[in-house]
Amino acid sequence: MNKFRTKLLFALITLIIIVLIGLGIVLGQIFKNFYMDTFNSRIQKESRLLASSIQENGSLNDIDPSMIKELSDILDVRITILDKSGSVIEDTESVNPVLDSHQKQMINQIGDKWDVKDKNKKLVISGKEYRYYWYPLKKQDQSINGLLIMSTEVDALEKGTGQIWLVLTISLGLALILIIILGSRITARYTRPIESATNVAIELAKGNFRARTYEDRLDETSMLSTSINILARNLQEMVTSQEMQHDRLTTLVENMGSALLLIDQRGFVVLTNRTFREFFNLKESQLKKVRYHEVIHYQQVNKLVEEIFMTEDRVRKQILLPHRLERKHYEVYGAPIIGQNDEWKGIVVVFHDITELKNLEQMRKDFVANVSHELKTPITSIKGFSETLLDGAMNDKETLKSFLEIILTESDRLQSLIQDLLELSKIEKHGFELSIEKQNVSDLVGEVLPILKDKADKKGISIHTRFRAEGVAEIDPYRLKQVFINLISNAIVYTPMGGDVTISTDEDADQVHVSIIDNGIGISEEELPRIFERFYRVDKARSRNSGGTGLGLAIVKHIIEAHEGRIEVTSEVNKGTSFTVSLYKIFPEQTFGE
Ligand code: ADP
Repeated sequence: MNKFRTKLLFALITLIIIVLIGLGIVLGQIFKNFYMDTFNSRIQKESRLLASSIQENGSLNDIDPSMIKELSDILDVRITILDKSGSVIEDTESVNPVLDSHQKQMINQIGDKWDVKDKNKKLVISGKEYRYYWYPLKKQDQSINGLLIMSTEVDALEKGTGQIWLVLTISLGLALILIIILGSRITARYTRPIESATNVAIELAKGNFRARTYEDRLDETSMLSTSINILARNLQEMVTSQEMQHDRLTTLVENMGSALLLIDQRGFVVLTNRTFREFFNLKESQLKKVRYHEVIHYQQVNKLVEEIFMTEDRVRKQILLPHRLERKHYEVYGAPIIGQNDEWKGIVVVFHDITELKNLEQMRKDFVANVSHELKTPITSIKGFSETLLDGAMNDKETLKSFLEIILTESDRLQSLIQDLLELSKIEKHGFELSIEKQNVSDLVGEVLPILKDKADKKGISIHTRFRAEGVAEIDPYRLKQVFINLISNAIVYTPMGGDVTISTDEDADQVHVSIIDNGIGISEEELPRIFERFYRVDKARSRNSGGTGLGLAIVKHIIEAHEGRIEVTSEVNKGTSFTVSLYKIFPEQTFGE
């Protein structure tokens, strides 16, 4: 930018120098001409004056040499007076009044034109320039009497004009220096904002949108600075919002649960997200300039992409892909990307992991199958015994009684199964809410025991209690009674005659713990994780015989989860089982199922 200022200044100064030189020449000439004209006219006037004074005297011989000498000194000219014959009568320069060679030459030049008045002539005589003025001296009858010559060296005149040139040069030189100083200041004043604006523009072009210029003056240049700053601010805002949009989009794409793949029209991978890379076990560096089939080794996926390339149509498919040790269900949606002018830009493929949905669907199917199976057994039994009775067996009182008893048992089982199913569906229903109350957990367990006393007595099982918890917890007493009845009842059912069941309560700062420990048949390690599943029974015959539905622990687990609590189980086959329920003293405010 300094270059611009230098160029501008240089051009301006050159122009000014040319103008000043031109002006100097013109002025010099004018001054010189004026000086010369003034000098000439003065000498001419003087010579006329002298001539007329000589003429008045009448004779040339009466001329007073001292007066001529004085006049010559005043005028700084050489005065020569010739008589009619051309001989020198008076000369202010030479002692000897004889024409010197210069004067002779001059006289020769004038020739016979003596009577031409007010004439002057410039002659170059032996290297020196002289200016001569002559005036004819006449008698009273107007006849030529002599000649008055005034001469001066041009050098003396030149001295005068030289001074004019000197004065002109000095004054114009000073003017030039002044103009240069002021000019550089003025150009600096006007070019500095332009320089600064240019620098900001360069910074903006480089991508530095934080660059700003000064806006300190109120003139045209400040408009440039203001506009540049507005431009910079707008650009910065645009870039910031673009970056924000880009970040949002990147975050969205990177963190979406579904895997995303973008392929260009030549089959090169353009964009993938984290889920995609995790699923296909790929690193970002592996996805640079590669075709999709080089990184995807699942034939089904590649076929789907090919299909979109061929048909240029959307494709939606459910595919099962092996992933490490599991198999995952994906709903793959692929679509061609068509640009604004119907140009083919590539393909986008989205993989939704629907494994959980599929599992849920399977669970629902299993549940329906289990329910039907569970219902089928008592109903078949009731139907079979009723038909046998109707076929004639009812006539036999003994058979009638025993069959009716079986029908009653099966109906009870049916009833408890339906009750448990209803209970489970109620708990699992969206929006299921507990009626939380402050209750002493040990007291609650104490309230449950009388209900199960008969059952325990029948098997000669002793129930021991060790209540060490005094604390009160925020719980739903009705639901927790269900939990403890289920757990204690299971302990009684799965413990042989004469066994022991111990119920203990304990507490720490936050929680109350209830343990139901039996010394019964126990559960093997492999079965342990499955006992909370619906309809899962370790020993199907024993469970059925005891009136179990296989839904008890599923209900228990749901209720404890609704309390944000925890249920843990440890067991050893033929040694016994221990269930521990942990409940928060202050109920964590969360609604189950939401
Ligand atoms: P059920 O109605 O059959 O008892 P649950 O859901 O209550 O169903 O229990 C599931 C299975 O877990 C039972 O069938 C039984 O095999 C096992 N089980 C539960 N509690 C105990 C226990 N205390 N001791 C041994 N096995 C148990």
